Amino acid sequence: MSELVISDLHAEVGDRPILHGVTVTVRSGEVHAVMGPNGSGKSTLSHVLMGRPGYRVTGGSVHLDGVDLLALPTWERARAGLFLALQYPTEVPGVRLADVLEEAFVAAGRDPSTVPGRLRAEADRLGFDVGLLERPLNVDLSGGEKKRNDTLQLSVLRPRIAVLDEIDSGLDVDALRAVARRIEDASSHGVDADGDEPLGVLAITHYSRLLEELHPDVVHIFVGGRIVETGGPDLVARLETDGYAAWT
Ligand code: ADP
Ligand code: MG
Repeated sequence: MSELVISDLHAEVGDRPILHGVTVTVRSGEVHAVMGPNGSGKSTLSHVLMGRPGYRVTGGSVHLDGVDLLALPTWERARAGLFLALQYPTEVPGVRLADVLEEAFVAAGRDPSTVPGRLRAEADRLGFDVGLLERPLNVDLSGGEKKRNDTLQLSVLRPRIAVLDEIDSGLDVDALRAVARRIEDASSHGVDADGDEPLGVLAITHYSRLLEELHPDVVHIFVGGRIVETGGPDLVARLETDGYAAWT
């Protein structure tokens, strides 16, 4: 059982405080939805968790299975089992997805020769055109293809905890379903053939559409840089009718 423990996290960007005490624990197999209006600091939270330069933590802590993530560079956070799907995936000219994943497998002490087979199987499962696997990472991919590509990375890498920043943005209905189902499967299987626990998910979104396929166990309303209410899936319905007005 893995556990990402975020405790009273405060952070600022360029001297401007954005996160004002975020506290949440995500365990293997749990899906947490974080829903909040534009500019509330959701992407900032994801960047701070992964250690993006330019963000300064001013208080609190983040631990993954007891490891102090805030003390580690980004690549070691990834090696510890944290994955981030960016709201705006980065294009990396000259580097194929398989190259990235093979390096990641080596860093994790896994057999890199299994990567091409895993990639093909997962691409098939996600309806991702295998022809696109030969392209440089995310270069000239459509918004929807980039998100499928991120999901492909996630499903081959098998992190312990995944933070998904608006993985639903820019997806058409079919792609949304494919992506959400793949993540739902990853979070709901038992311990698998490789001995992996099911995935724990922190899914940032401001639409409920994603959550029709990716079923959250817990829903957090995120306003003004912190979680202002936590509840079950019924919170989504309340949000759909009332908007964020009740919380702002
Ligand atoms: P959300 O993802 O919830 O829409 P963000 O985390 O992207 O919100 O942004 C929260 C606030 O932080 C916004 O007011 C945004 O303008 C500000 N912000 C984000 N990144 C930076 C940055 N690099 N420099 C200055 N302000 C930033
Ligand atoms: Mg955002």
